[in-house]
Amino acid sequence: MWQAQVFTLYPEFYPGPLSKGLYGKALAKNLWNLKVINIRDAAEDKHKTVDDTPYGGGSGMLIKADVLAKSLDKNKVKGEKIIYLSPKGKKFDQYYARELSKQKSVSLVCGHFEGVDERILSTRNIEEVSIGDYVLSGGETASFVIIDSVLRLLPGVLGNEYSKKEESFENGLLEYPQYTKPQIWEEKAVPEVLLSGDHNKIKHWRLSQSEAITRVRRPDLWQKYKKN
Ligand code: SAH
Repeated sequence: MWQAQVFTLYPEFYPGPLSKGLYGKALAKNLWNLKVINIRDAAEDKHKTVDDTPYGGGSGMLIKADVLAKSLDKNKVKGEKIIYLSPKGKKFDQYYARELSKQKSVSLVCGHFEGVDERILSTRNIEEVSIGDYVLSGGETASFVIIDSVLRLLPGVLGNEYSKKEESFENGLLEYPQYTKPQIWEEKAVPEVLLSGDHNKIKHWRLSQSEAITRVRRPDLWQKYKKN
């Protein structure tokens, strides 16, 4: 079983989209587990304070290192990777998702306000991970992105195991275009080759489409693909 532990100030957001469809079924079958930990439960004063103003001034608040540490120390699983969702982190991608899918348990710390006291990161061996070059109001939506991308890699979660191998990024390319019925729709026909029944021809067509799309849309991926 693969487990995600989420540390958050907004436990009510979960399980949200992760409880729906195939993920909900997989959860019921114990293929994965979600543990939601309210950081606020670790606050000790009577107001349950979790944040404070930054030293050196500036707007906004920071989640306190002592509160977060208490929450992490109480709940972390021995040997697991701890991730802090952060725009300053290493960029998340399909390779990273695959790595996480091989772990037994992963902790995801969701920041809020201006973030967290920096000292928590080094003292608790936390890796900073970003889902992209934009700023969110909190790490929760980013945690959904990470968990979603990992869950679909776990054996037994998606129906058709094979289809994953053909998807964008799996071979370093973006996916080829796909079509379903009707064969002609708004005067647009499905490419002839897909109706040919010639699997070899179809395979070649799909690869050339993947290559063409990747070359135009993602020169960065194309350069890497050409090198390999
Ligand atoms: N002051 C911070 C931004 C804080 S945004 C900075 O300038 O770097 C508030 C929280 O949202 C962060 O603590 C983080 O957990 C989450 N967050 C924002 N953007 C994110 C992104 N691109 N990837 C992952 N998490 C993000």
